[in-house]
Amino acid sequence: MLEQWVYVDGEFVLKEDAKISVYDHGFLYGDGVFEGIRVYNGNVYRLDEHLQRLYESAQSIMLTIPYTKEELTQIIVETLQKNQYRDAYIRLVISRGRGNLGLDPFTCEKPGVIVIAEQLALFPKKLYETGIEIVTVASRRNRADVLSPKVKSLNYLNNILVKIEANLAGVSEALMLNDQGYVAEGSADNVFIVKGNSIKTPPGYLGALEGITRNAIVEIAAELGYNVSEEPFTRHDVYVADEVFLTGTAAEVIAVIKVDGRVIGEGVPGKHTNILLEAFRKRVVEEGVKVYSKSTNVQAG
Ligand code: PMP
Repeated sequence: MLEQWVYVDGEFVLKEDAKISVYDHGFLYGDGVFEGIRVYNGNVYRLDEHLQRLYESAQSIMLTIPYTKEELTQIIVETLQKNQYRDAYIRLVISRGRGNLGLDPFTCEKPGVIVIAEQLALFPKKLYETGIEIVTVASRRNRADVLSPKVKSLNYLNNILVKIEANLAGVSEALMLNDQGYVAEGSADNVFIVKGNSIKTPPGYLGALEGITRNAIVEIAAELGYNVSEEPFTRHDVYVADEVFLTGTAAEVIAVIKVDGRVIGEGVPGKHTNILLEAFRKRVVEEGVKVYSKSTNVQAG
């Protein structure tokens, strides 16, 4: 096994030595923000969008990221180069940093910055061929006016409760409703339904994170001629859809073949889901910030 290097507060350390203080408010309170980013064939996919979302999350919680976007890009590129990864998942974490035991974030010295690159896949390959089963869980999405889902914070307890319910039901993902009972998203993915030529995903104000994969699929679907929209829908609409699929950086596009015991369509990944997954996979290897290049290290793509 090759050594794995992790960027922690200005230096690269081996995975075994990658540690933070127990006084870091990221650890004590989930006070911080993060991004999950993918690298395909040496191209960091939609890095600008991820950095934009990260900086907006930080702005919202009054956390000053101690680097510019260009510097963070360089750190990400260096992390990939040091680990010699061409295909990887990157976790970029900005924590509030070390403080005292009180909640007050302004006692913290300086934000912590961590970049981890790993070669992992969320779902086994076979599930992309078979599709997955999901259930609706009792846990509701945080209300957008209380804790905006647009803030991709280190506080993922809402999503973790959903994941626990999914696990207890024996499925790998779940459908989360918002406080009004409209479909919001999965524990870590966005949801889409397909009926005829129309493709729908819940709007952000219903509690869904504005996923970067989601936005990419909306764009691709529109280009391919689908009638794609952000619209509220209920569980009924999910049950009677021709196809249902989830999107996320880690999950990419994965078909859902059963929801709350109802078989969706033919009970296999649908034609449109496969078309979108294929179009997505084709683009990701071409688009993005290039990590390995002959002339320069970083090149906007
Ligand atoms: N919703 C939630 C709650 C998530 O954590 C994620 C993963 N970041 C997504 C949706 C999908 O977003 P993206 O496509 O940007 O990974």
